[in-house]
Amino acid sequence: MARYTDADCRLCRREGAKLFLKGERCTSKKCAIERRPVVPGQHGTGRRKPSEYSLQLREKQKAKRAYGLLEKQFKAYYVEAERRKGVTGETMLFLLEKRLDNVVYRMGIGSSRAHSRQIVNHGHITINGKYVDIPSYQVKVGDIVAIRDSKKDSGVAKELKGAKIVMPKWVEFDTEKLVGKILEEPERSDVDLNINEQLIIELYSR
Ligand code: SF4
Repeated sequence: MARYTDADCRLCRREGAKLFLKGERCTSKKCAIERRPVVPGQHGTGRRKPSEYSLQLREKQKAKRAYGLLEKQFKAYYVEAERRKGVTGETMLFLLEKRLDNVVYRMGIGSSRAHSRQIVNHGHITINGKYVDIPSYQVKVGDIVAIRDSKKDSGVAKELKGAKIVMPKWVEFDTEKLVGKILEEPERSDVDLNINEQLIIELYSR
């Protein structure tokens, strides 16, 4: 599958926001955006007055990069959100949140979304007892998300055992039993990325 190969921290610096792409490093003093919060490149420190389009574009890029998606995949969430009832921007974010790779990240099984996607791809996860290796799989309220029995001796499972994890209220994960559940639909306040989804909708509505 196509993927970003640009250095992760460079993406954060480009968007001027923490996108939490590198696990523990993101909450440490080593975080590049804490140490050097300027746009990368020769003109990074220059002053610019951004146009409306540029603000909308940057907001979309920020969200797309935070969830680790390419343009086509990301836009599909907008198209689907527009088709559904409700506020399009929020619906789009909820669809992104309910991707299996994001859920694995939110439950603390993976240290970043990229790591969580790898965990899903490598067949560590079951949903309601069935093995699922599709990162874009949409979870539903009541779904049981677990570490597959055959992976319970893996490094991922060993690191998780007994760990204390802070997670949003719409999911739970028992680090002893290695089983979690989708408790409720996510709310806007559960999306802890600093994203103005309205700007993204305006961009795609042009
Ligand atoms: Fe790098 Fe994480 Fe900091 Fe982003 S938040 S700059 S990925 S360490």
